[in-house]
Amino acid sequence: MTDERDNIIKIFLDRKIIWEQHNHGPHAAYDMADKHSGYYFNSDLAIMYPDLRRIAASYLASFVEDTQDDYWVFSYFASISASLALATEISTILGKRLGYFNIATGKTNFPILERDKILIVVDDIHSGGSIRKMLTAFKYANCNVIPTLLTLGNFSNKDDIDGLHIRSIVRRPIESWPAASCPLCTSGSRVLSARSQWKELTSADI
Ligand SMILES: [Zn+2]
Repeated sequence: MTDERDNIIKIFLDRKIIWEQHNHGPHAAYDMADKHSGYYFNSDLAIMYPDLRRIAASYLASFVEDTQDDYWVFSYFASISASLALATEISTILGKRLGYFNIATGKTNFPILERDKILIVVDDIHSGGSIRKMLTAFKYANCNVIPTLLTLGNFSNKDDIDGLHIRSIVRRPIESWPAASCPLCTSGSRVLSARSQWKELTSADI
């Protein structure tokens, strides 16, 4: 399993899905948070290639106990929706129903019932705030959340979040700073939007 994981990480690096600054050139601004960093994992690009999407989803799906029980594979939609593509792929592999949750409203339009089992899949985890919003909603609906959380990138520096064991491909802490006190900006490095200026960011720092 470790070899498979290493192989997927190698593909992430080869296809410039992971970008890391090497002491010169520009750095990245996170689009969903007011922070800057010298490292970025671009989950949109991780789900862009059909072969890689399938390999990554199969690796993560292997962590879920094989069961005849019915359950939902649930994700959320936010400003970046790579989570949904990953959850769709994992739902297909496992043969379980797909659902998603609107982080902005805290609601889902899928007909979940009390005691339904739910597997949560997201593209990456940083603070875990969105996961907690989902957990609160599922708890309120009296659903049973499967204690395994699948994600491409675990950047929370934790192995568990609110009782869910995180299974990921990339796992590492990310050093980042609030935009206003970013030492990379202070040192004169240019800041680029990680998502909208990805090409410029990843070609400038070779
Ligand atoms: Zn900065």
